[in-house]
Amino acid sequence: VVRAEGVHKSFGRTEVLKGIDLSVSAGEVMCLVGPSGSGKSTFLRCINRLERIDAGRLYVRDQLIGYEERDGRVHELDDAAVARQRRGIGMVFQRFNLFPHMTALQNVMEAPVQVRKESRAEAEERARSLLARVGLADRAHSYPSQLSGGQQQRVAIARALAMRPELMLFDEPTSALDPELVGEVLDVMRGLADDGMTMIVVTHEMGFAREVGDSLVFMDGGVVVESGTPADVLGSPRHGRTRSFLGKVR
Ligand code: ATP
Ligand code: MG
Repeated sequence: VVRAEGVHKSFGRTEVLKGIDLSVSAGEVMCLVGPSGSGKSTFLRCINRLERIDAGRLYVRDQLIGYEERDGRVHELDDAAVARQRRGIGMVFQRFNLFPHMTALQNVMEAPVQVRKESRAEAEERARSLLARVGLADRAHSYPSQLSGGQQQRVAIARALAMRPELMLFDEPTSALDPELVGEVLDVMRGLADDGMTMIVVTHEMGFAREVGDSLVFMDGGVVVESGTPADVLGSPRHGRTRSFLGKVR
């Protein structure tokens, strides 16, 4: 579903991604870990075209992100076409970014109605079923300020799912939560994984990575240092940098 080939990204003179190669197949849950500043968020943002890459190629579902191959050449896509590509990709951030003046239900319905032009009735029915799926059927009419951080994050997941994404990106979805609320969000993500969603998850939750992840990628300094099954990478890391990082997060 996702293929990165030699992805480079700099901000000014700082080279943040120095040639990322990886691929994620349909239904795979890839956990991405690494120290602060290693480029994890930047990489997710490139997949979603929130950042444009400087070199390399990024494919999502065999489509080049931000570009189109026509007549044997590569052409840059206009904003509308990029927006269409982006619709197939759901993203959940550390901060939930819900619309504060809208209820949970309205938050989940908003994009399907505005962007996908679904009827309100259709969008509402689906939003209700998504809220039920994240365990919030009874909070449809609550505003974000009336919900706990864990509940808000579950609404954010439902909102992303409302666009019927084929790929979900999670950037430290539980890092801003009180410890007792982490589990409820991870449970929702585990349910998504069980339903076959393709996911890339930046996380420090090694228990989740071990139990739910199909693959684990360790990034440091803008490169993939090591990747493999979570059991292999966590159980017998081959690189010193991986070992020292894992020693700190566990
Ligand atoms: P963390 O674990 O702290 O979230 P990360 O692995 O997600 O770290 P990134 O957020 O991708 O790391 O940042 C990688 C580097 O890129 C950092 O040095 C950061 O300062 C820099 N950076 C990120 N975004 C920008 C930007 N818009 N402009 C300039 N520099 C940026
Ligand atoms: Mg980050």
